Amino acid sequence: MTVRTRFAPSPTGLLHIGNARAALFNYLFARHHGGQFLLRIEDTDRERSTRHAVEVILDGLDWMGLNPDEPAVYQSTRQARHAEVALSLLEAGHAYRCYCTADELKAMRDQATAEGRPPRYNGMWRDRDPAEAPPGAPFTVRLRAPQQGETVVQDLVQGEIRVANAEMDDMIILRGDGSPTYLHAVVCDDHDMAITHVIRGDDHMTNTFRQSQIYAAMGWERPHFAHLPLIHGPDGAKLSKRHGAQSVVEFREQGFLPEALNNYLLRLGWGHGDAEVLSRDEQIRLFDLDGVGRSASRMDYAKLTHLNGVWLRQADDDRLADDVLSRLAGREGVTLDDAARSRIRALMPGLKERARTLVELADSAAFLARQVPLPFDAKASSLLTPDARALLRELALALAALEPFDAAAIDAALRIFAEQQGRKLGQVAQPLRAAVTGSTMSPGIDATVAALGRDETMARIGAAIGG
Ligand code: GLU
Repeated sequence: MTVRTRFAPSPTGLLHIGNARAALFNYLFARHHGGQFLLRIEDTDRERSTRHAVEVILDGLDWMGLNPDEPAVYQSTRQARHAEVALSLLEAGHAYRCYCTADELKAMRDQATAEGRPPRYNGMWRDRDPAEAPPGAPFTVRLRAPQQGETVVQDLVQGEIRVANAEMDDMIILRGDGSPTYLHAVVCDDHDMAITHVIRGDDHMTNTFRQSQIYAAMGWERPHFAHLPLIHGPDGAKLSKRHGAQSVVEFREQGFLPEALNNYLLRLGWGHGDAEVLSRDEQIRLFDLDGVGRSASRMDYAKLTHLNGVWLRQADDDRLADDVLSRLAGREGVTLDDAARSRIRALMPGLKERARTLVELADSAAFLARQVPLPFDAKASSLLTPDARALLRELALALAALEPFDAAAIDAALRIFAEQQGRKLGQVAQPLRAAVTGSTMSPGIDATVAALGRDETMARIGAAIGG
């Protein structure tokens, strides 16, 4: 058996991280077993399912590196097939036409509620002769669900779960307008796509029992099911806006790397010993559903941010520089000319040591793309005392003639200069840092000055001591 999994999002305009995690688990499970990972866009709700909403999902999956192995299947294109399956159930006697009007259904529900029963369909047309229906009256198709016995699911995460069939009424599979219901469409599609494992959020657990009845009626083999616990906020409540980012786009905007988000989402609710930082290859090698916990996980933004810093330090410098440039583009006071680009690239090894997110990284790199006179923060201003300015004037003379103008030579020059002046290295480095960065924090001063280059360093010192 070739393992085939699928991610089946409804295009609602965002890719929620709960769904992104389901996609990741489906992807890893398929890869681990040498199978295929598929994508089905459940776009039967024509109003919400805009092209834009679909793009958001495709972009999000692409960004996370979770591209499907086959072209996406659009559920809306398969309506004829869904109807065909419903009609075959009708022919086989596993489904029947229900001619109940909206008023009758409402009365049925009201009566059930009044009697303290769950509002279920009462089987009005289950055994009635369709000839009794008014000629030409619209009808829905309902599954003739078993009324005795149990439906049992061996869930690969939750274990065995049983539901008495008496608890489930005869669900509609085809509406009056000939369109399929969601539960029916999913079963037809999963069957036709030869899905072997359905891995999805545990909010779909009750759907699984109803869908099982359709599989049974069709005589189709059921896939294996695995229901993942949901992701909650740090306080245990349903994850919402007030907790922080929820969608993949938001995490991306807030400066998270896809590999860090993937790594975090994997570790949230899945464990393999103490392993925390796992490459995609390791994830594929180690992932299995046995390691998925049964209880809801809590989103820990601080932990994600920490993990992001770990991944950031391992990330390629060119890639980080490109990202930083795109985040700085259009920022006030920032000029992204060739000089600024090459400075940012040159200092990236130092910059990435200090940042936890790409937003922090861009903030810390902005000074490299500013023009003199730089804006100084309060701490930097307070360092530029008359004494410090005098010192910087002397230092500028030493740096003006320095050859080569690289980090090692700059480091040596600063040490010699400090000694000559009878100062500690920090007493020279801190005012210099203030003068050339406008702040008191930057990568090593030698690397920072080297990245700026001689001319820019001179211009910045000049502007800082000039006033
Ligand atoms: N379309 C459903 C959702 O977005 C998922 C259905 C499924 O995985 O079976 O929640």
